[in-house]
Amino acid sequence: MNYRVREAASLLRGDEIMTNQPTPRPGVLAIDAYVPGKSAAPGATRAFKLSANETPLGPSPQAIAAARDMLEESALYPEGSSRKLREAIGAHYNLDPARIIAGAGSDEVLELLALAYIGPQDEGLYSQYGFLEYKIVTLSAGGRPVVAPEKNYVADVDALLSCVNSKTKLVFLANPNNPTGSYLPEKEIRRLAASLPKQTILVLDAAYAEYVTTADYIAGVTIVDEYENVVMTRTFSKIYGLAGLRLGWGYGPRSIIDTLNRIRPPFNISSIASAAGIAALADTEHLQKAIDHNTQWLPWLTNEIAALGLEVLPSVANFIAIRFPSTPGLTAVEADQFLTKKGLILRAITAYGLPDFLRLTVGGQEANYAVVTALKEFMQKGKNSF
Ligand SMILES: *Cc1c(COP(=O)(O)O)cnc(C)c1O
Repeated sequence: MNYRVREAASLLRGDEIMTNQPTPRPGVLAIDAYVPGKSAAPGATRAFKLSANETPLGPSPQAIAAARDMLEESALYPEGSSRKLREAIGAHYNLDPARIIAGAGSDEVLELLALAYIGPQDEGLYSQYGFLEYKIVTLSAGGRPVVAPEKNYVADVDALLSCVNSKTKLVFLANPNNPTGSYLPEKEIRRLAASLPKQTILVLDAAYAEYVTTADYIAGVTIVDEYENVVMTRTFSKIYGLAGLRLGWGYGPRSIIDTLNRIRPPFNISSIASAAGIAALADTEHLQKAIDHNTQWLPWLTNEIAALGLEVLPSVANFIAIRFPSTPGLTAVEADQFLTKKGLILRAITAYGLPDFLRLTVGGQEANYAVVTALKEFMQKGKNSF
């Protein structure tokens, strides 16, 4: 993958080729634009979108009400630094609001980090099946993406560390990771943070932190507080159900947050998103419902699907990666087609180098039952075909 990226980047170097049209910076055309999962199942009478790790519970009703109220204020610019939102996050998690930055989704915080810290020749490092956005933001900033191999679909701290050099500006780690659902325990995160050079920033992307119930997991607050080079990112898109409003945040050392604020677009967060985020944080009952729902259905789906003879990667988030056989009749591509016809929309993750897998988001009860029933039918049909 690296070779291809490097090759594409050099092909694109403006000084080597004559063009009679506007030409982007080196690296930009090497980016494969992010392709979101399918969101429709043409022909199906009803559809369940289980392809984007969205919550089946929807947002807190209080968040919706707050967003509606704020619509009335739409003529006014939002407060530029999202102060009230940062104060609400600070109060909720006991953090200094001055060390919080709000982003239009945590994707924007990742992008600001790359823009601020990665220059030409610099490297952004992430693990083999890490979230695709890390590659995109590294290339967008003009840097070089570097990929460390995983072991058994889990990030490998030693492999990451062996890729670190003086050009490594950012190390991205989704914990838990999308699309595998795997995570690294606190001990491993600490080992990674302690072993990185001081000029390299560790980005702990904790988009699914609220879902994790294992005792040896930490989202990263305490680690951020112990180092001058660790940042944690969070989002309102996943368990809080506000993906459509685009709202996320980062927490880091003052110097890094100050740096990001210099390049942050003014008014990057709408007043509506801010209001919804503040109300969502306050609705702890809704949050608990979402956690309980996942705690019930994640193991149920994992066990039911494994019982069909399919490999399911152990997940601590609100989705699972399911591996299909390469036998014709039983492949992931065929399963995807079969399920889509029934209105069950899963996520193909070939772009992550996982062509044998489909990623399934934990849905509501009806969707979960429908997926298991459909997969059972698919496996029987596939096995009967030879
Ligand atoms: C969904 C996701 C995000 C962030 O999404 P935003 O909507 O931009 O906040 C970040 N990291 C991972 C690993 C994700 O899966």
